[in-house]
Amino acid sequence: VKVKEILTVLRDWAPESFQESYDNSGLIVGNPDSEVNKALVSLDCTEAVVDEALATGCSLIISHHPIVFSGLKRFNGSNYIERVVEKAIKNDICLYAIHTNLDNVNNGVNAKIMELIGVKNPRVLAPKKNMIKKLEFFSPKDATETVFDALCAAGAGEIGNYSGCSFRLDGEGTFRPEKGSNPVIGEQGVLTRQQEDRVEMVFPAHRQNAVLKALFDAHPYEEVAYQVLSLENIWQEVGSGMVGNLEQPEPVMDFLKRIKEVFGTGCVKYTQPHVKMVERVAVCGGSGSFLLGNAMGAKADVFITADYKYHQFFDAEKRIVIADIGHYESEKFTMQLISDYLSEKIPNFATCLTKSNTNPVHYL
Ligand SMILES: [Zn+2]
Repeated sequence: VKVKEILTVLRDWAPESFQESYDNSGLIVGNPDSEVNKALVSLDCTEAVVDEALATGCSLIISHHPIVFSGLKRFNGSNYIERVVEKAIKNDICLYAIHTNLDNVNNGVNAKIMELIGVKNPRVLAPKKNMIKKLEFFSPKDATETVFDALCAAGAGEIGNYSGCSFRLDGEGTFRPEKGSNPVIGEQGVLTRQQEDRVEMVFPAHRQNAVLKALFDAHPYEEVAYQVLSLENIWQEVGSGMVGNLEQPEPVMDFLKRIKEVFGTGCVKYTQPHVKMVERVAVCGGSGSFLLGNAMGAKADVFITADYKYHQFFDAEKRIVIADIGHYESEKFTMQLISDYLSEKIPNFATCLTKSNTNPVHYL
């Protein structure tokens, strides 16, 4: 298969437009038209991982963390980032990163963490704004259903667990075909009155090109009357962190010990428990301290994340238990998640998980 075919599947799951502004998810090195028969999946793209890809014949490395965050100005091998990029280019290895865009989808990194903890049906903790748009279009009555079906197929009209959502108004449209026109209804120079539907449908902003293409392809008119509006609504399915309830409340210390076990971490750093039992859990894989307010607002008993600093632990204020389980440990199951997803979508494509433990942190 071509690299771009693999990327299409990944982008369909976690569109690159879902990444945070500081991120650099996407194809960092390589030609999307090159052929690939095996991909190596890792959390970090280190030199050891590139060596492993070479040794095992993988010409694509899919990592969670991007190897390059900010611009590189020199390529003389003076640090590991330059050396990884140089080695990948020299050996025709493509480097793809699927980072905060995979954090932000509701079947990504945090959903996997929730699954491991045993929380069913978690929801996004901090849903994103400005991710939804609305299409309004005008259609002759006998064409409305065809256009509507095409728009649904392109991803419009979905709200939460509902599809086919639209609102329709009856009315009369007028138009006068002028010189050069080739009208489906009416004739040149004559003002035409036509019974039309005005239809409103929401769609995810990143689907705009596909939605408009579907509209133009399916609509019978030479000139389609429509408008696209940006909405400030939050999109509940996309955003940072997740929150949900355990099936059974669990004593705090039992819960924390279980978390240590499940994530195989050498150390759980936690704040003084203010409750005896844990029921609601908030999580954010990786550095999640920016979500503490959201976790408290959602009335979570415990917030599981990583990269907490000494002074930030004080912010728990006896209102929540902050539990820092380590960055690598919180996200290491992402490798399996990516591999499982690709195997399901492209059954004949092989993915291997890296054998090197890229965690730079060790525990005594
Ligand atoms: Zn991370």
